[in-house]
Amino acid sequence: MSSFHRDTWVEVDLDGIYENVQALQRYVTEDVSIIAVVKANAYGHGDAQVAKVALEAGAKYLAVSFLDEAIALREQGIKAPILVLGASRVSDIGLAAKENITLTVFQKEWLEEAESVYKENQPIRLHLKLDTGMGRIGARTKKEAVEIVSYIKSCDRFSLEGVYTHFATADELQSTYIETQFERFSGLLKEIKQLHPISMIHCGNSATALRFPGRVFNAVRVGIAMYGLTPSPEMTPILPFPLSEAFSLCTKLVHVKKLDLGESVSYGATYTTKKEEWIGTVPVGYADGWTRKLQGMNVLVDGKLAPIVGRVCMDQFMIKLPYELPLGTVVTLIGKQGDLQISSNDIAEKLETINYEIPCMISYRVPRMFLRNKSIMEVRNYLQDKPILE
Ligand SMILES: *Cc1c(COP(=O)(O)O)cnc(C)c1O
Repeated sequence: MSSFHRDTWVEVDLDGIYENVQALQRYVTEDVSIIAVVKANAYGHGDAQVAKVALEAGAKYLAVSFLDEAIALREQGIKAPILVLGASRVSDIGLAAKENITLTVFQKEWLEEAESVYKENQPIRLHLKLDTGMGRIGARTKKEAVEIVSYIKSCDRFSLEGVYTHFATADELQSTYIETQFERFSGLLKEIKQLHPISMIHCGNSATALRFPGRVFNAVRVGIAMYGLTPSPEMTPILPFPLSEAFSLCTKLVHVKKLDLGESVSYGATYTTKKEEWIGTVPVGYADGWTRKLQGMNVLVDGKLAPIVGRVCMDQFMIKLPYELPLGTVVTLIGKQGDLQISSNDIAEKLETINYEIPCMISYRVPRMFLRNKSIMEVRNYLQDKPILE
């Protein structure tokens, strides 16, 4: 177990993630495979730890954005199939094949270049990405899709395992746009299936899986719901089952003092006490991802709400305590204390962004503590990872 030497840490509730994956699996039925999306270090939670627990809970496949993320999982002993959702360099195909990593294809030019560069016998496993309205990556027309599939068919170094698309508005209750995307996807699939059998077909993220469980073909790519967060505030009232939020951020009081009336706190002296007040300092700041815009947000201390007073500094900020509290008292920035909870949703609302961004923005300077079967299973200090030297 690695250690850390500061009083700020993230707690990742792997039991919650396990339950969320199992609940999703029951909901979409056993006929639909769960692809656990663990890109961006599992949305800031910890890639290998989340991948392992998701696989234990029944996920059949993993997905990441970039080849580096897939290789990091292999280096941590993950053997399950991994799909890279983003674009990969043709020059890296050999590496992907060697590590048994599935790549996304969406351009015929990429295949042509790949064929001229890649000379090994190990076939490259591919999923074809179709752009049905997201406008990000993907083949858009029947002509493009048919050309790609025909090309793959003609070359035995390529193996087409899957076809997929991604919806732009799955988390909005208005369904017109997603229905158009469903229709385009079905039309393109029909053409493709006439040319080549496809063993995995997937169109759904968390929101799609939760809203249209019967229309997701035979696999779903689940990210945010696995971490216990609702894809959008609109969807909160229609969630078919409860989700368990896995990410907490905690720190401890490192300094406690009583200030007289009229004394100021932090850079710019933007906060001045209105009477005698107990002020606590915590060792976490914007360099940990706790941005300056969170001035005024509440934290939890001794089971009560306490506001952040004065500007958030790079490594520390101050809170107004309800009363004198001992040094070392736990302060919860995200998570529960007693009956109160500060959710990533609350932080997102304050920052006028989406909940996805909140665990992602907590930097790797903050160690991750993994809880499994209600006890500490592992602690990961990203700062102490050995640098990679060539
Ligand atoms: C990130 C991502 C997902 C997961 O989306 P959630 O809304 O987190 O479930 C699925 N598919 C693709 C292509 C993605 O990029």
